[in-house]
Amino acid sequence: MPDDQPRKHIYGNPRLRQVLIGLVTLCIVIALPILLYPQRTAIEPLQPRPGSHGPSPGQRSESLTQLGSTLKSGGPVQVIYNLPGKERVVYITMDDGWFPNEDIVKLMREYRIPVTTFLIEQAAREHAAFWHEFVSAGGRIEDHTFSHPFLTHLPPAAEESQIARPLAYFRQFGPVPDELRPPYGDFNSTVEQAAREAGIKYIVMWDAEMEQSKLTTVHKQGLQPGDIILLHWVPGVDREMLQLLNIIRAKNLGIADLSQTLAGGSPPICRLTSPVPVPATSTHQTVPEAAYRGTQMRQKSKGA
Ligand SMILES: [Zn+2]
Repeated sequence: MPDDQPRKHIYGNPRLRQVLIGLVTLCIVIALPILLYPQRTAIEPLQPRPGSHGPSPGQRSESLTQLGSTLKSGGPVQVIYNLPGKERVVYITMDDGWFPNEDIVKLMREYRIPVTTFLIEQAAREHAAFWHEFVSAGGRIEDHTFSHPFLTHLPPAAEESQIARPLAYFRQFGPVPDELRPPYGDFNSTVEQAAREAGIKYIVMWDAEMEQSKLTTVHKQGLQPGDIILLHWVPGVDREMLQLLNIIRAKNLGIADLSQTLAGGSPPICRLTSPVPVPATSTHQTVPEAAYRGTQMRQKSKGA
């Protein structure tokens, strides 16, 4: 006997069909942005936060990804990203200064490594004794503003104050700085003008970065003579420095003082003759913990 009853199928049920179509549409709406922008949050540089002052302790505020829009400049100060010369040398720079690390100073003394620190005045004030020690080990302190704002978001007078104020404070550590590294690599022609009026001669950017034990360069050719290498004073930077020294040695490069080279001098070149041992994990912080607690509490109270 023929089955004249229409077969009930899931797709024949209008209500079920509507529910299914709704579910599929919802999935597409959720999945589409993820498929279109898979790396967005991973590689995007820090976004300007007008009014916010200072990176969180331990945060790396500068990175290679911030260089793209500011590679060209011909203003009142000289802007440099690397410093090629007749010697096969690179330059080591360290930013911010919230987490000083005495093992870095020990390394500088042991191997006579020239290091330039672009220091935030607020961070410097937390550990002034440490920065005197850093300078006595051959370190150079240069300007990274008073409180690390996005300079291009400030009115010109505030820009100049952010740049000029640390110059007076840093005088206690040695020569008055004439190099500026703008926080987050953020500058434009008015920042250049403000820097010049404050007495800055050079805006020093970077073209290589040591981060999470990995060295990356803008030119993607490994470390090259003249590269200006960026590190941050973050926990674990002592281990990163040891790894960097081994990379520099393997490339048969030396390390020279950035400021002396900019001034036209011929600084002594640090050359490592053998690899340096790298511990499996970073050594602990050696600056008194109380100082760090103070810094962290202050940062928390700022909501950073
Ligand atoms: Zn910074």
